[in-house]
Amino acid sequence: MFHLKGRKQTVAQSGDAAASVAQTVSDVISDIEERGDAALSEYSERFDRFSPESFRLSDEQIQACVAQVDPQTLDDIRTVQRNVERFARLQLASLTEFEAEVEPGVFLGQRNIPVGSVGAYVPGGRYPLLASAHMTIVTAKVAGVQRVIAATPAPDGEIPAASIAAIHLAGADEIYLLGGVQAIAALAVGTETIAPVDVIAGPGNAYVADAKRQLFGRVGIDLFAGPTEVLILGDETTDPFVAAVDLLSQAEHGPDSPAVYVTTSEDNAHAVLDQIERQLKVLPTAEIAGAAWENVGEVIVAEDLDEAFRISDEYASEHVQVLTNEPRLALERLTDYGALFLGDRTAVSYGDKVIGTNHVLPTRRAARYTGGLWVGKYLKTVTFQEIRSDEASARLGKLLGRAARAERFEGHARSGDIRAARVTGEWPEW
Ligand code: NAD
Repeated sequence: MFHLKGRKQTVAQSGDAAASVAQTVSDVISDIEERGDAALSEYSERFDRFSPESFRLSDEQIQACVAQVDPQTLDDIRTVQRNVERFARLQLASLTEFEAEVEPGVFLGQRNIPVGSVGAYVPGGRYPLLASAHMTIVTAKVAGVQRVIAATPAPDGEIPAASIAAIHLAGADEIYLLGGVQAIAALAVGTETIAPVDVIAGPGNAYVADAKRQLFGRVGIDLFAGPTEVLILGDETTDPFVAAVDLLSQAEHGPDSPAVYVTTSEDNAHAVLDQIERQLKVLPTAEIAGAAWENVGEVIVAEDLDEAFRISDEYASEHVQVLTNEPRLALERLTDYGALFLGDRTAVSYGDKVIGTNHVLPTRRAARYTGGLWVGKYLKTVTFQEIRSDEASARLGKLLGRAARAERFEGHARSGDIRAARVTGEWPEW
């Protein structure tokens, strides 16, 4: 393999930048924890130039937002939310709860219990990402979460009406106009006016993603879902125009969004580079997409498809799109990706906005150990156990006595001893 275009080390990627983001995040979290609503207002003023009397939207304000959105957009929001719900319900149905008699008299089972409350973050710094409302809130409601609260920023006090409409239609129980670290911290630790939640979900920029990372443990988080990434696989049959459009469609998320093209054909690689140059001249969001392409765009020529698949797994990109001659081969061969898009009739943007699979996906190689947001992230898989016969209680009680003493846990051992003795009548001498 060789790089026809390599990435430049950007400020956004350097260790110094990551450390500075982490420091800001940690300072803001501690301060909000200490000073609550007063700190919340100060940080919102500093980062979003917005500090209203109350960050929570009233029912009237919510209805006013819905009324501002044109009917076609509202209709589209409802359609996409139904698509997200449809897929989430299929996922829910795939989960099993069971109770089984694993040996005579011993019953073991598993249940999936929804978490009590979720804080859903809907990004809104650069674009009003209303699709994130569908992904985080609809999915939580399908999982059965009782209290779902949402936060989205209102930079300069501009209320993002379409996002608020989407959040409301998705079924959120409370809506707050808060962004960035201050939003995540308030939802996670709570303030005088916001009750904390059990799980924080949703995508966001480097600050949002790092805030979730730092708060994990005190609250659950869905996953590490930072700045968007795409990797597209191609070969000599790939249409360079389509590949270029799709690479830039993800690069427009932000200047720190990597777009990587891996192809087995050098001619095809040149053609894609050429197309990207042309399209950057006409794309309205070229300033951002062009910066991303310049900073973190890559074109790699692989020896063959085997090598291309290996490179793809190594990158473990958030989105992998397959534009090769035989796209379904990737389904068998690839193991590390957030979501896989097969063939040129679909594109990553379908998943981002409309198709119904979840767009909250792992970034920065987190796809090595997790998939994206789904109903299961809002459920706790717990076990229960019941012994229903004296014989089984005695049998396992004796085993427990020996197993616990092997670990020098005398107290544990006695819990087994007494149950065995109740059945056998042979009381141990302690
Ligand atoms: P955002 O809502 O995530 O962040 C905006 C907030 O960041 C602002 O409200 C502000 O409070 C805070 N902020 C900005 N600069 C700051 C600074 N210097 N210090 C402290 N706080 C600061 O919106 P965005 O910035 O447009 O980013 C959205 C992100 O979501 C993009 O990076 C996009 O790629 C990503 N995304 C990821 C996924 C995924 O699943 N991984 C899906 C969709 C979008």
